Amino acid sequence: MSLVFPAIETPTVPIKGSDDRLPVRRIFCVGRNYSKHVIEMGGHPDRNPPFFFTKPADAIVQNGETVAYPTITENFHFEIELVVAIGKTMFKVSKEDANDHIYGYAVGIDLTRRDLQMGAMKAGHPWEFGKAFDNSGPCAEITPKSEIGVMDDARIWLKVNGETKQDSNITHLIWSVPEILSTLSHAIELQPGDLIYTGTPEGVDAVVPGDEITGGVDGLTDINIKIGPAR
Ligand code: MN
Repeated sequence: MSLVFPAIETPTVPIKGSDDRLPVRRIFCVGRNYSKHVIEMGGHPDRNPPFFFTKPADAIVQNGETVAYPTITENFHFEIELVVAIGKTMFKVSKEDANDHIYGYAVGIDLTRRDLQMGAMKAGHPWEFGKAFDNSGPCAEITPKSEIGVMDDARIWLKVNGETKQDSNITHLIWSVPEILSTLSHAIELQPGDLIYTGTPEGVDAVVPGDEITGGVDGLTDINIKIGPAR
């Protein structure tokens, strides 16, 4: 058998302190997982079960790259997020055992065409094109859990052109990382290389070409991207 055109190269993310890279299999994102962000989106911060959406694996953007302002939006938002990388196959795992399946953690940005997302929400359509589009998932290098331990208390922040926009702590997650992973593992079988973007705190806002976004989670490598002109 031969392929009629070359298969895409597997997207990868670097591992801190190593020449190794993590092959990205899938990207799952948690919606509405910090109370104050739920409120700013016009929702009610109750503990409804967590819900998920996805981005294509090749939405990954490497740290330091420039992201072209995307098409068909006039309200392009950042969302700083703690990213969890899965290291072991995970199916119907309890929250007590969930952390054992984590390879490591990284800082990511869930780039969002907010106008498309809100329009889809109102129309009862899928969020897909508000969330899953080219270059919508910047992710910095992964710090192995073997190095940093289990992360459950760390400041999470984002600045645009040096001005603080988001500043919270992962202790404010409505659904904790083990709860998220356990819930997901009952819906699908998680596999090594799957990345989970765990939700964003309050302070999301729009960026325009020329803006520089820097963000971090204490203990992890900061992420830095620039917004370039539309293609
Ligand atoms: Mn998000």
